[in-house]
Amino acid sequence: MALLKEWRDKAYSETANKGDLQRLWTEYFQKERDIYAILLKNPDEVVKGTVKELAEKYSVDVMTMVGFLDGIDESLKERNPIEEMEEDTEVNLGFDKELLYKNMVAAGADWLYNLPEWEEIFSEEKRKELYKEQKDSTTVRKEQKIYPNDPCPCGSGKKYKKCHGKGKF
Ligand SMILES: [Zn+2]
Repeated sequence: MALLKEWRDKAYSETANKGDLQRLWTEYFQKERDIYAILLKNPDEVVKGTVKELAEKYSVDVMTMVGFLDGIDESLKERNPIEEMEEDTEVNLGFDKELLYKNMVAAGADWLYNLPEWEEIFSEEKRKELYKEQKDSTTVRKEQKIYPNDPCPCGSGKKYKKCHGKGKF
């Protein structure tokens, strides 16, 4: 089975045990945030490698890397063959900074667009401008999947529903 299909079947499963899915997403969001924090430290470096090599580089399993590649794809300058990729497929993480910031805003992921690494990339004014541009656009995107009782991905230690997910449930 193609890796992306395997990841999506697992992560968006309608039939899986809810506790298992919660754990999967909670772990995924933490790893995702760690990878973005590393990438944003050198935002102009185009990281390249096979799916497997990148998983090793960021100390995650291959499926987590596949989820990450799925999530970042629409923010890349040169998109990857995510539908067909296998462990040995060469991929890149060369993202468009403005687009990535806006996609984080679109996903409602403030634990990502508020990463302190962004402060070195864009001024506060620029960040506000990008935020507004995204909020004013009419594009509707699906929100990232987090369950009410998950720990909030911002790292506060509170439940999502009591922190950044307040009012969403
Ligand atoms: Zn939070």
